[in-house]
Amino acid sequence: MPNHTRRSLLRHVTAVGLPLLLPACRRTDAPQKVSGYTTPITLPSAPETDPQFAPGALRLDLRHRITGGTEAFTLERLRLEPSWPERLPPLKDGPDWGDYRVSLHDAAGDALLFRRGFDTGLAPDARAATTQCSIRFPMPRRAVRVSIEKRRGANFFAPLSTFEIDPASAAIDRSVIAIPTRVDNLHIGGVAASKVDLAILGDGYREAEYTKFVDDARRAASYLFSVEPFKSRQGYFNVRGVFAASADSGVTDAYLGLNKNTVFRSAYFSGGSERSIADDDHYALREVASAVPYDFMLVLANARRYGGSAYFAGPAVVAIDNAAARYLVIHEFAHAIGGLADEYYVPMAGGPAYGGNVEPWYPNVTLSPDSGKWRKRLTEPQGRPGTWNQTEYDQYFAGYVKRYEALRANGVEEKVVEQFMEQERQRQTALLAKNHPARKVGYYEGANGYAKGIFRSEADCIMFSLQTQYFCAACSAVIERMIDAHVKP
Ligand SMILES: [Zn+2]
Repeated sequence: MPNHTRRSLLRHVTAVGLPLLLPACRRTDAPQKVSGYTTPITLPSAPETDPQFAPGALRLDLRHRITGGTEAFTLERLRLEPSWPERLPPLKDGPDWGDYRVSLHDAAGDALLFRRGFDTGLAPDARAATTQCSIRFPMPRRAVRVSIEKRRGANFFAPLSTFEIDPASAAIDRSVIAIPTRVDNLHIGGVAASKVDLAILGDGYREAEYTKFVDDARRAASYLFSVEPFKSRQGYFNVRGVFAASADSGVTDAYLGLNKNTVFRSAYFSGGSERSIADDDHYALREVASAVPYDFMLVLANARRYGGSAYFAGPAVVAIDNAAARYLVIHEFAHAIGGLADEYYVPMAGGPAYGGNVEPWYPNVTLSPDSGKWRKRLTEPQGRPGTWNQTEYDQYFAGYVKRYEALRANGVEEKVVEQFMEQERQRQTALLAKNHPARKVGYYEGANGYAKGIFRSEADCIMFSLQTQYFCAACSAVIERMIDAHVKP
């Protein structure tokens, strides 16, 4: 079965359309002041090239809490990272994805210095939940006001939390990384400022498994660059393996009764699904990643049982020893880099139907064939849904989900599940290929967890089925745009 993001998993257990009914979140009245660190300030020395930003990056380790309709981010640590992986001055407005955004304003004036969308591991429509998350920006030279807002409509953001930060403050942790790391440059295309910097990290590798980690990281990179639009843009990437040893081999998996002590505390069952793995110690993950310049993180769980998870601008986590690891790497990393929604859904008696009326920010799904999303790549008429064998596919896919769940309920060996999924991958590909001898780009109903009321751009895509051959036109366009945003001046 295709993997769920943590967010889409949580969405499945909430009422359809609930996000639109949530009460507005309470705004924090006063900016939070932070304190607690007394280490001497020693900014890295480098030539002053930008009037607003100094070398290095400032990371905010945050606690994201949703309780009873109230939502807030609280600051747990201010952390100096050695490098900012993008150009300076930064793009003030990057691609506008994510359920949240962070804005950085000059505290003295009111100039906008930086703005970026992001997601966290929580469903934005959750009723009560908490998680760690981190946001970063280049190290400001003067005091700044950091505002975090939540998306409340297509282009409306409501304030959630505000912090005032003085870059000269002793509250900023400037100590060296406490977790020992080893870095392997797997592919270097150029300087960090003009490349997409991918950090591949491992969880559940013991010190003695360092060589396996490096081999796994090379394998993961080869999967990613086996498919367009990554394939022809490999030269736009820097790929580095960052190894940090875990006490135990493997990761925590309640399904198998495994409880492991690992560096990022990754575990299956994140979001309640047996096939979702996520890190639990996000700050440790960020610490290890900060050993290198990084824009994106791919985390290899040293485990075989099928699973993964990802969210926009967060880590993509995959079970690297599963037979479907190629699919997991490509699919999950696409969530992280492109803010892409899952395009699949689990069919149920004519539904589920999407009940909301606000156009989702996800760039690869839309509420209407009139929306104009991906219009530059259309080959079919706008305004008219494309035809595809939805009835046949839904019938097949509902059966597939039941067969998968029966295998898990019976506790069969992973090898049996792997063989089953490979057969099903071939069946899915054959079924979807019936639609077109050549690919057609239009508006196909069924996406983002819903059979009705929401559309994707092609009959098939790596975000829709288990294939690893191609992304649909909408997904390809977004991935290209995100890569270009890091590469082009
Ligand atoms: Zn797609």
